[in-house]
Amino acid sequence: LKSLACCLPALFFLLWVHPVCAQDAKDFPLIKLEGRAQGTTYHISYYSKDSLSYKQSVDSLLKKIDSSLSTYLPASIISRINRNDPRVKADPHFKRVFERSMEVAEVTNGMFDITVAPVVNAWGFGFTKKSDITRTNIDSLLQWVGYKKVTMEGNILVKQSPQMMLDMNAIAQGYTVDELAKLLDIRGVQSYIVELGGEVKAKGRKTNDEYWKVGIDRPSEMDGGEYQAILKLENKSLATSGNYRRYYEENGRRYAHIIDPRTGYPAKHNLLSATVVAKDCMSADAFATAFMVMGYEGTKTFLAAHPHEGLEVILIYDDDGKWKTYYSPSLQTVVADLMDD
Ligand code: AMP
Ligand code: MG
Repeated sequence: LKSLACCLPALFFLLWVHPVCAQDAKDFPLIKLEGRAQGTTYHISYYSKDSLSYKQSVDSLLKKIDSSLSTYLPASIISRINRNDPRVKADPHFKRVFERSMEVAEVTNGMFDITVAPVVNAWGFGFTKKSDITRTNIDSLLQWVGYKKVTMEGNILVKQSPQMMLDMNAIAQGYTVDELAKLLDIRGVQSYIVELGGEVKAKGRKTNDEYWKVGIDRPSEMDGGEYQAILKLENKSLATSGNYRRYYEENGRRYAHIIDPRTGYPAKHNLLSATVVAKDCMSADAFATAFMVMGYEGTKTFLAAHPHEGLEVILIYDDDGKWKTYYSPSLQTVVADLMDD
């Protein structure tokens, strides 16, 4: 566990997806907001006719979402649900994320599952101290995992057993990006890019008709600044999941933070990162995590079987020691693939 302490803080500061700068539009002023939220950073750029800054509204929305979904705040709704506080009621943020989580769990056959929390915690990636890992311990925790064992009745989350806990970290950032975008939509902003922890949504184009562009980092801490590809995003969202981003090493093995809910062990295969482009960022975020569980072949099979989900992907995978990139054939937004051979 020793390297967890040193690698995590550094990685938290790494911006996975960077908005690529281009010339500012002439007509409207470009407003930029940035700050910290949900253990990471956010960046928002938008064109506003009236030069208004929405920093205060943005920060109060972020606070509100944190007080609902953050497992790191003991007083949040999700933390109280995890503690079985009998007085806790779900708010609209919680209910929307819960509902979409159940849909994605259903369609991915439980590869995405927010009830994986007890196991995530045992591996030391959650909100409690790491436990000793043995097959027996993991098996006994798995009886408290399973999205079909929780339901929402009105504002009350009903669990099949009190040991069950939820972890919405695989979908909450994407949801937050959607909510920030909605905040700008409501104020009539026609052109923006919103990014939180590497999850992005862009609307319209810059006022000089240029696309908003997003650079996707290579999947390696060593090559931090280098882009793997550049995409243009218009009225779409993008989220990336990768197993090399949060991990620790123990006895020479690397343990990553995305858990396969079937085994209770970290997902382990040749898929290095999954980037998903979708209409909404909540779906992109959830599916990106699910694809890390499915692996490269599993993801391609899933996409072929579920065309109506409207998902496009960039998958970076290890092919016998050589990194390769797969792009969905329908992905029209790639400006440049910067991968060396
Ligand atoms: P992301 O970075 O969006 O892929 O989210 C990863 C986080 O989601 C992990 O740190 C865990 O807290 C949680 N998680 C891990 N495995 C799963 C899973 N199979 N389904 C849902 N959430 C998960
Ligand atoms: Mg995710």
